[in-house]
Amino acid sequence: MMLALEMYRSLPRHLAGKAIGARAPGILSGYAAPLRLVTLDRPSAERPGWARLRTRLCGVCGSDLGALSGRTSLYFSPLVSLPFVPGHEVVADLLDDCDDLPAGTRVVIDPILTCAARGIDPCDACASGATNLCARVTVGDVSAGLQTGFCSDTGGGWGEILTAHRSQLHPVPDGYADEQAILIEPMACAVHTALHSGIRENDRVLISGAGLVGLLATLAIRTLTGAGEITVVAKHAHQRDHALALGATEVVEPKEALRRLRRVTGAFLVEPEYGTSYLLGGVDVAVDAVGRKRSLETALQATRAGGRVVLAGMPDSVDLSAAWFRELEVIGTYASAQREAGADGRSAFDLATELVRGDAMSALAKTIATYPLHRWREALDHAHGAGRLGTVKVAFDPRSR
Ligand SMILES: [Zn+2]
Repeated sequence: MMLALEMYRSLPRHLAGKAIGARAPGILSGYAAPLRLVTLDRPSAERPGWARLRTRLCGVCGSDLGALSGRTSLYFSPLVSLPFVPGHEVVADLLDDCDDLPAGTRVVIDPILTCAARGIDPCDACASGATNLCARVTVGDVSAGLQTGFCSDTGGGWGEILTAHRSQLHPVPDGYADEQAILIEPMACAVHTALHSGIRENDRVLISGAGLVGLLATLAIRTLTGAGEITVVAKHAHQRDHALALGATEVVEPKEALRRLRRVTGAFLVEPEYGTSYLLGGVDVAVDAVGRKRSLETALQATRAGGRVVLAGMPDSVDLSAAWFRELEVIGTYASAQREAGADGRSAFDLATELVRGDAMSALAKTIATYPLHRWREALDHAHGAGRLGTVKVAFDPRSR
């Protein structure tokens, strides 16, 4: 048997709407929370290529909070299987030998449950290495689940034991703290965003939001693309320091973002009598690193005609007038691919493992707050207010009591 947090039902949409609308504290941890601490049978790893892992640390991701608060679009409901143990930002020890990896190896996981993990012939996306675009996330040997942490069969990192397929495992080199290692999966997503964003030499880039997604995107874009000036929109002072250390040219508060970008790009600022302001002219590429209405609208409103807006956070509904009127290219970037175009044959996880070792990333890793599973209510409240509370990541440590 083992301890785990289990998401056992979907939060009714009307409840979610009410609570989010009122910004009620405790939405994630109160009476309506669809999560509970339970004792479960350990997941078994009888399928070929699968192994059991013991969780060392597992992060709380924005997509986890979205699922728990009912904010996630109904679009995703057929792509999960309830009940499930959440958690896909995992660093863990292998309990079984798994092909070439011996038991005891410390690993991080690529959470995508691809055709290989499902024991079926590869779809076109998987065959080309674009595993994040796998078309078969609902079929095969394991239940529906776009990722580990959304699937009822695999377990997740918010439990003591989970299972994973060899195709998901990436050994962690010696010399990495667990707190650095759990940043490798989100960093791999940022690597994918950078390589997929189409940023050209000297493009002016806006990153809308300076939570973990925005900060890691800043580092990945600065390191892996020829971006010119990078402006980061940050709400909180501690985010400003991290963003500058990770490669931002300048950091602005949300309310000053458009005026600042108007000045530096020579754009016109248009102010409708009702509604929010926007630029005619603006940045070449804007990355929405949050996925909320406000952050995405800032990205749309600050991008020049014919420019590009990159959705790096799971998006809310938003006013798309600018995309139509300014002929913006809007592209999504989801998770990371086993073969990244433009990565010289290296995987996003290999690049991410290199990128998380710098001083600025070590400083970021030191702000991670960890909780035992039984303190999940506090942990989720902390994660919900992380930016305000000076943290970039909240994580569970299922080994601590
Ligand atoms: Zn596939």
